[in-house]
Amino acid sequence: MELSKRAMSIKASTTMAISSRAAELKAAGLPVIAFGAGEPDFDTPEHIRQAGIDAIHSGQTRYTPAAGTPALRQAVCDKLKRENGLDYEQAQIVISNGAKHSLMNAFLAILNEGEEVIIPAPFWLSYAEMVRIAGGVPVIIHTKKENQFMMTKEELEAAYTEKTKAVVLTSPSNPTGQVMDRADLQMVADFAVEKDILVISDEIYEKLIYDADKEHISIASLGKEIYDRTIIVNGVSKSYAMTGWRIGYTAAPHAISKLMASLQSHMASNPNSIAQAATVAALNGSQDCVKEMCVEFKKRRDYIFEREEAIPMLQALKPQGAFYLFADVSGTYGKNSNGTVIRSAADFAAALLDQKYVAVVPCADFGMPDYIRLSYATSLENIREGMDRIEAMVKELKD
Ligand code: PMP
Ligand code: GLU
Repeated sequence: MELSKRAMSIKASTTMAISSRAAELKAAGLPVIAFGAGEPDFDTPEHIRQAGIDAIHSGQTRYTPAAGTPALRQAVCDKLKRENGLDYEQAQIVISNGAKHSLMNAFLAILNEGEEVIIPAPFWLSYAEMVRIAGGVPVIIHTKKENQFMMTKEELEAAYTEKTKAVVLTSPSNPTGQVMDRADLQMVADFAVEKDILVISDEIYEKLIYDADKEHISIASLGKEIYDRTIIVNGVSKSYAMTGWRIGYTAAPHAISKLMASLQSHMASNPNSIAQAATVAALNGSQDCVKEMCVEFKKRRDYIFEREEAIPMLQALKPQGAFYLFADVSGTYGKNSNGTVIRSAADFAAALLDQKYVAVVPCADFGMPDYIRLSYATSLENIREGMDRIEAMVKELKD
């Protein structure tokens, strides 16, 4: 019997696979340093955990409305107003099982078979697969390092066809850590309005920005016409160290939100009621915990970048946000690492894991096969040890 062609054409997530592999090796007693999946190493802040416990004790353990509890949808509206200057009503908010689920809902709600979604590479690997799952076609723009991996208007125009339905933005970016400024966003907004296409704006790393001259701007705040064409995707996994709680959300025009809520009502009912209550505490409570984590991430960003700069065959831009270092390893190609000739970032990553027990993500599935990604959401001590080992491996390479 032949199973679903579409399902069989989808590749499982390599970020998830690498973190499982690293965890397996660790469990087998090997001294693994994991720069794999992007997951904060901090505990969920105490007041948020307590809100989850209180929700259990007060019996918030039943189905909620499919699109989320009124309390959480209102907390999201208040957050968007307070932090992003955006006006949304509860009916425009859909709470889902993580931002990944929010994104999947968004693609399912907007795409017809064969419609295209423009995705600037390097991109977080799941976008392209999600578009395919929804019957769409990902159209990749290969941005350039000399443009800080920002797409240009010319590149966007070249990618556009009659079938284009949407463009995806991620700022701060996973994997590059670059932050779009107002001019970058305005260019995309003008283009989307002119062509009447949608923007899916993934803002999940918005609170993790490390330089005073960089700020997060939501593209939806650039005017009514672009607001009407934007689906904002956000969540609490990264900024509140809540990856396991699985809460993400969208803010979108009424018609799109209605479709997403309807799809979700069949596919998942509601997201976890306890996690929703904890998320209300995260959004409405003190934001000091986020600031504290951000200070730590900045120290790590500064340190890992300094170490990478000192390794001759690796090249990276300084990340401005998120928690990833994105490094070009093509300088090592043709070199011999303990009997293996390195010809791709995948070879480099495999050699690093085999010989030095350091897990990194090779970025072919992010649209950039010459790059690796290092998540620095781990302790400074681990980063120091991991970078020592990477430096040692590169130094040991033979011609
Ligand atoms: N968007 C980006 C850019 C991400 O890196 C992630 C990481 N998982 C997600 C969305 C999804 O986050 P989650 O499902 O954990 O909320
Ligand atoms: N978003 C994180 C990453 O890029 C977590 C894993 C995943 O969801 O892909 O590593």
